Amino acid sequence: MPPVVVAVAETRPLSARILRELKCAICASHASGFHFDAQSCSACAAFFRRTVVLDKAYQCQSKETPYACKVHYQEPKSCRACRFSKCLKAGMDKNCEFPFQLLTASFVSRCL
Ligand SMILES: [Zn+2]
Ligand SMILES: [Zn+2]
Repeated sequence: MPPVVVAVAETRPLSARILRELKCAICASHASGFHFDAQSCSACAAFFRRTVVLDKAYQCQSKETPYACKVHYQEPKSCRACRFSKCLKAGMDKNCEFPFQLLTASFVSRCL
């Protein structure tokens, strides 16, 4: 799967415009940076870390269409099973060497 990130090879910080346009790959909220190697918001990153640290296993809430729930920051109760699977699909890796990084050009070039 191709990365969702914007490839930049600059050494100066990304412009504010680019930062505003970056969306969380999981819930479409504003992405605060790269978390566990995926472009995401801090809420999804915290959710992913909690899940991994506590070794949680979630069951999808949907009986009709399992593992196809909508995961969106405006949904009050996103299905945790589907949110976690979106985290993984977005490329989140619990073994990432740099678990939390603000989005700076130097970090982007390192992680790509
Ligand atoms: Zn998110
Ligand atoms: Zn679900």
